[in-house]
Amino acid sequence: MTSVDLDGSGRSRRYWLRGAAGVSLTLAVVTAACATALPPKDSVLSQHPAAKPVPMAKAAPVAPPPPAPVFDCGQPVVGATVDSPFGLRRLPWEKHGRLHEGVDIPGPVGEPVLAVADGIVAKAGESPSYGRYVEVEHGAGLTTFYAHLGRIARDAKPGEFVVRGHPLGKMGSSGDSTGPHLHFEIRREGKPLNPASFLGREFQTQADLPLKAASYVSPHVRVAQVSAIPERKQALMAQVSGKAARPAADAGPGVVIRVHQRLQFPSLHAATEGSAQSAADATGSSSPG
Ligand SMILES: [Zn+2]
Repeated sequence: MTSVDLDGSGRSRRYWLRGAAGVSLTLAVVTAACATALPPKDSVLSQHPAAKPVPMAKAAPVAPPPPAPVFDCGQPVVGATVDSPFGLRRLPWEKHGRLHEGVDIPGPVGEPVLAVADGIVAKAGESPSYGRYVEVEHGAGLTTFYAHLGRIARDAKPGEFVVRGHPLGKMGSSGDSTGPHLHFEIRREGKPLNPASFLGREFQTQADLPLKAASYVSPHVRVAQVSAIPERKQALMAQVSGKAARPAADAGPGVVIRVHQRLQFPSLHAATEGSAQSAADATGSSSPG
């Protein structure tokens, strides 16, 4: 601090200079302190996103996914050809024709049998006539039924969800079967429908379901000719024909009859065995196919 004494009043002036210098120093210190305490203006803005609003990019409109079809029906056996179609059929040991409530699909023992559509397993079990079977519910009142299986898949249990193509079991010849084949049914509210109207087709809505066409049953009764008579049916055969039936020639377990005659349907051919009756099945009196 410089001290200047010019005219005797220097004492007071010296004090004034000292005071002024002190104030200047104080201001300088305070300014520096404030500059240190406050962050720079840009820094404040960067910490507040709302201070610099970024316009939202407009999302392109996305079309809603198409609704799932009410019934997307595949094939229960890969490369399947339908044998013995849906309709009235009379077996040699029967006096009258009965409705074959499904279709028969022949194939080798062990061939995978697949769920034709997504669904929930409703039943899995065994009966004297149908042998080992699985039933699947698909919604819209539709069920599918797979019978004469050689074995049932371990996970094909009631309550299990299955997707289309999921293996339900292996083809076999259990129950009253005529040889390795799958007996396959489609029902709606319990009423049997012709599977030929559904297999390999997709139906978007319930109104698209071919219920009328699939419900049609021709009055013509097809007569199945067989090469051998099932042991369980030989007494009936004797009554019908008036003579004893010859025993099954190829009597493996459950493999008892084989149809010679090709049935006269445009795209279908060759029956292999008898028809199915779910209600009669419980009585053991029916001949499933
Ligand atoms: Zn059948």
